[in-house]
Order: sequence, then structure tokens, then C-alpha cells
Amino acid sequence: MMNAYDDNNIFAKILKGEIPCDKVYEDEYVLAFKDIAPQAPVHILVIPKGKYISITDFGANASPEAIKGFFEAVDKIAGEQNLKNEGFRSIANTGLNGGQEVPHFHLHILGGKKIGPMVSK
Ligand code: AMP
Repeated sequence: MMNAYDDNNIFAKILKGEIPCDKVYEDEYVLAFKDIAPQAPVHILVIPKGKYISITDFGANASPEAIKGFFEAVDKIAGEQNLKNEGFRSIANTGLNGGQEVPHFHLHILGGKKIGPMVSK
């Protein structure tokens, strides 16, 4: 398992403005941008501005305000992207078995069509 935050991970670089992203939403708690390799018509990544490796790190160590801010932003983004009526899928890959590639907590938001089976076997 990963246990120290890597300041040079690609999403840290996006947060620092060192590399660009296709931003769809930003506030004091989160940045959200289009996934570079979209798996659905809408594929957005929502990341907290704090340094959290994973969903468990975020849940255990972020402030209540940061956690509330994160999920309020998810609600706003889903609304702005017109995903709330027809629904969407949110995924937080975690660690090795979860297939997490970038060690900065991110929630995938996938929508715009019926998303396929929950997991590939
Ligand atoms: P995960 O496997 O959950 O860690 O997902 C990482 C996601 O980040 C993948 O869906 C990638 O396509 C996406 N990704 C990697 N680099 C970038 C980037 N520079 N901008 C936007 N999305 C990216």
C-alpha cells in the first residue's frame, strides 16, 4: 500500500498549475476536470485540493468541512453536467487491487449513457 503522499504525482502538478487540465469546476475545496482518456460521454475527475492519497486517507484525515465541500461539489458538478435525472456512476479506485494509477484521491464521474457492468470479471 501507498503511505506517503507524492508531491509530484500528476494531479498534484495539475493543482499547482504545472500542467494543464480541461477544467469543468473549481471552488475552495475541489478541482474537477475532464479525464484525458474518457470512458463515457461525460467522464470527469473530482479531486480535493488537500493532499490525500486515497478515499480512505481523505475520509480518515480530511476536515469535516473539506469532506462536506467535496461532496457538495460533486452534487453541483452532477447538476451542471445534467447527470442528475438520468444518473451516473462514481468510482474511487483505491490501491493495487482497485487499479488506482494516480495517488491523489479522485472520484470518477461517468455518465451521458448507460454505464456497463459494475466490474469487469
Ligand atoms: P485511476 O486508475 O483511478 O487512478 O485513474 C486515473 C485516471 O486519470 C485515468 O482515468 C486517466 O485517464 C486519468 N488521467 C491521467 N492523467 C491525466 C491528465 N493529465 N489529465 C486528465 N486525466 C488524466
